[in-house]
Amino acid sequence: MISRPRGTRDFDVAEMEKRRFIQKQMENVFKRFAYKEIATPTLEHLELFEIKSGGNIIDELYSFKDKGGRDIALRPELTAPVMRFYVEKLQMETKPLKFYYFGNCFRYDRPQEGRYREFWQMGCELIGSCSPEAIAELIALAYHAIKKTGLVNIRLRIGNLNLLEKQVRQAVAASSSDFSSAFHTDIFRLIDKNDIDGMEQLLTQYKSSSQQIDLFKGFLQSNNLDNIAKYFKDSTEAQADIDDFKKMLDALELFGVPTRDVIEMKIARGLDYYTGTVFEIEAPQLGAEKQLCGGGSYTLVSLLGGTEIPTAGFAIGFDRVMMALDREKYEFPISSDLIYVMSLDRDLGREVIKLVSQLRHSGFIVDFDLMNRAIGRSLKHADKIGAKKTIILGRNEWDQGNVIVKDMQSGTQQEIKKEELKTFIA
Ligand code: AMP
Repeated sequence: MISRPRGTRDFDVAEMEKRRFIQKQMENVFKRFAYKEIATPTLEHLELFEIKSGGNIIDELYSFKDKGGRDIALRPELTAPVMRFYVEKLQMETKPLKFYYFGNCFRYDRPQEGRYREFWQMGCELIGSCSPEAIAELIALAYHAIKKTGLVNIRLRIGNLNLLEKQVRQAVAASSSDFSSAFHTDIFRLIDKNDIDGMEQLLTQYKSSSQQIDLFKGFLQSNNLDNIAKYFKDSTEAQADIDDFKKMLDALELFGVPTRDVIEMKIARGLDYYTGTVFEIEAPQLGAEKQLCGGGSYTLVSLLGGTEIPTAGFAIGFDRVMMALDREKYEFPISSDLIYVMSLDRDLGREVIKLVSQLRHSGFIVDFDLMNRAIGRSLKHADKIGAKKTIILGRNEWDQGNVIVKDMQSGTQQEIKKEELKTFIA
C-alpha cells in the first residue's frame, strides 16, 4: 500500500461538497465587490520567491531542478505569482485591477493541525490604489467573505507598519546607525510573534535605554489613534498616516465592518515587503493556528521589474476556515438533489435509460442501477446514496402513461403522469 505524502490530505465526497459550498460562498462575495478571477501556474521559478522573501525561503518550500536544469518551486503562496503575471502581461490594463484567486500552495512546514504541506489559499489583490477607501474596501471584502461562510467568532486586527517602523527607529535612535536590515528583520519577527522578552533583549543589545523600551512597549499596547498620535508629536509624516488610518476606519464602518477594538500596533506580518496598513483576521477557537487571513499594502512590483504602483491584498487560509466552521459545529446547508430511476421489470431497461437521459438534459442530477440489483436492494441503495426521490417504472403504470415516485425522506409513494414528472420532482 502506498500512503499519501506527509502533510497532505485526501478529501472524501462529503468534505468536497462542504469545501465547494464554502468556496462558492466566498467567491460570490469577491464577485459582488467586482473582483475577477485569475489563475497562475502551480510551478514558478524559484527566484520569484527568493526575490520576495530572501534566500532562506528555500528551506520552507518545495523546490527542484527540472530536466533543463532550471530551479523550480511549487508556489508557497499566490501574491508573488499574481504580481509576476501583472508585471509580465497586465501593466497596461486600466486601473484599478481587482483580482481574486483560489489555489493550492505548498510549504515544507512541520505538519500539525491547521498546518499542512499542501493547503489552499483564497485571496485578492488590488492593483492601482492604496487610498484609505481602497484599503477599507479590501479589508471589508476579507471580513465579509469570511462572515458569509457562516463563521460567527472571528476577530479583525489592523496595524500600520509605517508607524511601527518609526517607533522602532525611535527606540534605537541613540544608535540609529545600527538600524541594519538584519535588525529590522529580527525585531519585526519578534514583534510578530509577540515575543516581548526577545524584543527587549534585542533592543538592549542595540543600546536602547529602559525608558525607550518602556515607551516602545507602551506604543505596542496602544489601541486608539488619539493615544497613538501622542507618540508622534514631531512627525507630520506620521500625522498623515494617522489621518489616513482614521479615514480608513470610517470607510470600513460604512462598508459594514465593526471597527471597535480593531487597532493593534503589534501586527508586523513578519515579511519585509509589506508597507503601511496590515491586517489579520483570526478565529480564536483554533488556538495556535488561529490566523485565517493576513494582508495589507505591499511593494513587490518594482522588485519584479515593473513600474511601481500601489498594491494591496490578502490571503485567506481556506483549510482553516473549514476547520473553524467545524469547531463552531456549523451545519452545512447541503441538500441532496439526486433522483434515482429504477424499474420493476427487466424489459423496461431501455425506458429507464431514455428517462434518465431526458431528465439529465433537463438539468436534474440522475442516477440509475448499474449493478443489476434486485428491486429491494435497488431501493436500499437509492437511500444509501442519499437520493431525494426515486422514480420507479412498472409495466402496468408505464402502459397507462404513469410512473411511481417515492419520496425517500417520508417514504410515501405517488403515481404521477409522465408529462407532470419534471414539475413534480423539481
Ligand atoms: P501567509 O501567506 O503566510 O500570510 O498565509 C495566509 C494564510 O494562509 C494564513 O493566515 C493561514 O490561514 C494560511 N496558511 C499559511 N500556511 C498554512 C499551512 N501550512 N497550512 C494551512 N494553512 C496555512
